[in-house]
Amino acid sequence: MNVIAIANQKGGVGKTTTAINLGTALAATGMRVLVIDMDPQGNASTGLGIGRSEREKSIYDVLLGEMPVTEAAVPTCVPKLDIIPATADLSGAEIELVEYQERTHRLNRALARCDDHWDVALIDCPPSLGLLTLNAMVAANSLLVPLQCEFFALEGLSQLLGTVERIRERFNPGLSILGVALTMYDRRNRLTDQVSADVRAVLGRVVFDTVIPRNVRLSEAPSHGLPALIYDHRCSGSEAYIALARELIVRLPKSSPPTAKAA
Ligand code: ADP
Ligand code: MG
Repeated sequence: MNVIAIANQKGGVGKTTTAINLGTALAATGMRVLVIDMDPQGNASTGLGIGRSEREKSIYDVLLGEMPVTEAAVPTCVPKLDIIPATADLSGAEIELVEYQERTHRLNRALARCDDHWDVALIDCPPSLGLLTLNAMVAANSLLVPLQCEFFALEGLSQLLGTVERIRERFNPGLSILGVALTMYDRRNRLTDQVSADVRAVLGRVVFDTVIPRNVRLSEAPSHGLPALIYDHRCSGSEAYIALARELIVRLPKSSPPTAKAA
């Protein structure tokens, strides 16, 4: 299983929107996809149609209760796309996990037990570099970083890359950067053009060619509990996520390397 952490400690950059719509686009190619909602806000769960009252099992049970991933995962309205929902109690998990042995490897352990159940897992990380994001990075083969096309886009990226470097050294030497995806691109705004050119100049080939446009359909879809790709599959946002999925598939390692070894 290819495990991809979608991470950026900034909030509101498009992590969740990317997890939902990239997951849907990948599932449409026939891949078996698992979205793991690691954000206590649970927006990926809501956006994939799992209402708060329907969340009986969650990633909290996996991380702290040793529930098998296959038991915590539930199907969504998208064929071949399952999700492990997040519930509000996940907000306490960062603190509760501190007491646990091998607290950084809880997710890694859980995923190792169901390696052939899905082809790809997308982990929707919370907007912080705390224990939940660390668990995601230790469990992942690679990282997808959404970067909002705004003036301070690159600010904070060095902190993120520093964290990735420490995780490589200590826990997960194979962790790679699969790509940086520019989001909320507005072609009528010259500043976003400039930002995207700057980001490409600094980061080079790691930046996906596909840019995700600012598109109101992408922000409307979650209130209907649907991915934009189902809510309106022809909107510019949906088309962009399909293009991003195509680009991403080419970058995926053919056979996924084994996930991180336990410390
Ligand atoms: P994060 O998970 O990084 O906090 P979200 O994916 O939740 O970010 O996006 C933040 C807000 O912006 C949400 O309301 C979302 O619907 C909206 N949004 C995300 N991407 C786009 C986009 N490309 N165009 C318009 N709105 C977007
Ligand atoms: Mg989010």
